[in-house]
Order: sequence, then C-alpha cells, then structure tokens
Amino acid sequence: MLRSRRGAAFSTRCCVLDAVLRFRLTGLCREPLIVQGGAMTITDFSTVGAYAAPAAKAPLERTTIPRRPLRDRDVLIEIKYAGICHSDIHQVTDGWGAGTYPMVPGHEIAGVVVATGPAVTRFAAGDRVGVGVMVEACGACDECRAGQEQYCPRHVGTYNDRDRYGELTYGGYSTHIVVDESFTLRIPENLPLAAAAPLLCAGVTLYSPLVHWKAGPGKKIAIVGLGGLGHMGVKIAHALGAEVTVLSQTLKKKDDGLRLGADHYYATADEETFDKLAGSFDLIISTVSAPLPLGRYLKLLRTEGTLVHLGAPEVPVELELFDLIEGRRSLAGSNIGGIAETQEMLDFCAEHGITSDVEVIRAEQINEAYARVLASDVRYRFVIDAATI
Ligand SMILES: [Zn+2]
Ligand SMILES: [Zn+2]
Repeated sequence: MLRSRRGAAFSTRCCVLDAVLRFRLTGLCREPLIVQGGAMTITDFSTVGAYAAPAAKAPLERTTIPRRPLRDRDVLIEIKYAGICHSDIHQVTDGWGAGTYPMVPGHEIAGVVVATGPAVTRFAAGDRVGVGVMVEACGACDECRAGQEQYCPRHVGTYNDRDRYGELTYGGYSTHIVVDESFTLRIPENLPLAAAAPLLCAGVTLYSPLVHWKAGPGKKIAIVGLGGLGHMGVKIAHALGAEVTVLSQTLKKKDDGLRLGADHYYATADEETFDKLAGSFDLIISTVSAPLPLGRYLKLLRTEGTLVHLGAPEVPVELELFDLIEGRRSLAGSNIGGIAETQEMLDFCAEHGITSDVEVIRAEQINEAYARVLASDVRYRFVIDAATI
C-alpha cells in the first residue's frame, strides 16, 4: 500500500478496487472521488499537495492544486521524487519571460502508477514510471511522426504551459500527477527512483545530442560545465565509448569528473587551456546557461566539428561568424529528446548502470536548494522527496 502525505491511502494490489477506479476515474466531473474497499480508502485526488511559486521571483510555498479526472488514456501517478532542474529556476524567476503563476515546477518526475483510465494499455497500477519535460504534442506534424515531439510546435510543457483544453499545467513538485500514457516513461527495475528522476530531463538532454552527433569510439567529446547536466554528459559519453574531456572553470571538481568517467579535465580559467586544446574536439556540448565566449570554444573544434548549446542564457550572445567559416564549424542547439528516445535513454542507463548523483531533500528545503544551485553548490542534482510535500 502506498500512503500519501495527505493521509490518502492507495492500493496497488486490489484488482477489484482497480476495476472500480477504472470506472470511476473516467468521468469528467471534478467531484471528490471516494472509494472504499475493505480496509483501503481512496480519497479525493482532484486536489493534491504541491509547492508553488505564487508570483515571479517569489519563494516557493506549500499549496494545493487541481489534478484532472482521468481521461481514457491517462495514468494517475503517485510522485515519489522530483528533480530540481536549473530551468525550474529560470522559469520561477521569469528569466525566460511568459511565466504563468502560481507555478508548480518539476519535470524530472519518478513515481508509481496508482490508477489508469479504461483505454490505457501500456501501464498498470504498481508500475514504476517517469514523466519528463513534455505531457502533450499534436501527434500529427512531421516532428511528431518522426518521434521528435520536443520540436512539435504544439508540444505542451509539464508545467508553466497550457494544455489543449487551456488548463495550466503543473509539474512534479507535487504528490500526484495525471498524464497521458503516451507521455509516460517506464523506469527499469534496476534504477532507483530518486537517482533515476533526473534522467527524465538532464539524462535525455545529454543523451539526445550525444547520439545525434554520433559520440562513440574514436570521437573526442568535450563537456563544458560539470553540474546537473554536465555530470550526466560525462557518464553517458563515457558509456558510449567516446574520449571525454571536461572543461570546467576551475579544477575544483576534477576528482569527481575523472570518477564519473572523464579521461581529461581542464580549467577554462587557465588561459593555456584554449591554446593547448585548439582544434581538438569532434563535438563540444555546453551545459552552462551563462553566455560563453563562443569564439574561444569554437576554435577548440576540429574541422567540421560542432558546438552544441544546451543551456539557454537569458540574454542574446555575440558570435564572430569567421569562427564558423574557418574550419566549416557548426553551432547548434538541442532540446531534451523525443518520447521514444527518452525510453531508449532510460534503457541504455539501465544497461550501463547509469543514474544521476543526487542529494535528496525535503520539500521545505526547495528555496535553499535553489540558492545552492545558483551557487553551483550541488553534487549533482537535488531531488525532492515527494512524501515531504
Ligand atoms: Zn530540465
Ligand atoms: Zn506535433
């Protein structure tokens, strides 16, 4: 039995109860749902506990939010852990603009299915599942048909967005979430849920460009920044068989970098680094969200190498185009990964025993954790224990 903080008890064992739920949860009303079966009671989940920012730049505080009744293909997930992604902070502070409040961040969600809609075929109560950065896409455009829902012009973010019915989406800093099964991922049994949660954003954000630009044996890859994203990049690039270099401001985390799988580690504060490594890399992946002196990094690429930006600075960046023209270099961006690719990444991580290095916190520590993320004082991802919400 799974017990939520609010006292609601959910059974994952009683198939009779499950059948009742399948029937009851398909209605589109917002009436409280109370199902009793023997000693088990399932209480209203249409209002659930969450941590939200009431306004831009405001500290997060505990509140309650609505979750929709299950549609035919929906699963109800009891969230166990939610990772804190740097983009949560960009959005809570409205650094990227267009923020909607109250905002419940969180798009690195790991939990357990507690109920399913009647047309759900891929999941059942008790399954270990994850939800990442998207919860909807149109399903019909070229990008969706190519399995790249993240580039669908109508994809809907897990939070700070509006779904096809115009309802605000609320993320994973919450006890429960309702998601269409086609945007629900299966978390392999050998991955602990807390350490797997960050794979849903940080993991796939690195996996997708590494695979797209063919990181593997014989390729020299540089990862810029050893934070939540960067440490996943080192682990995944190493597992793909590439020669991995970390470019970090200082050598403070060098021992960690080498332990995580890097072959080399250089400080970018050291002027010699840029001379020494000029023309070295097939692929450089920048995970930092501060603006970089792009020209200096582009010169580190071999002919036809690519610099991929994952972090999104809040201000425009300058580029001297000669740095691209010389050596036919490319500057690219990449955004998370498609749903099938995210599942492929989770399976790859399970096969190679890869998870995120996490520090599990209680919900009331979220604001303190944000300050520590901004100070680069986390090794390497904060994960909220949703039982404390
Ligand atoms: Zn993220
Ligand atoms: Zn689409």
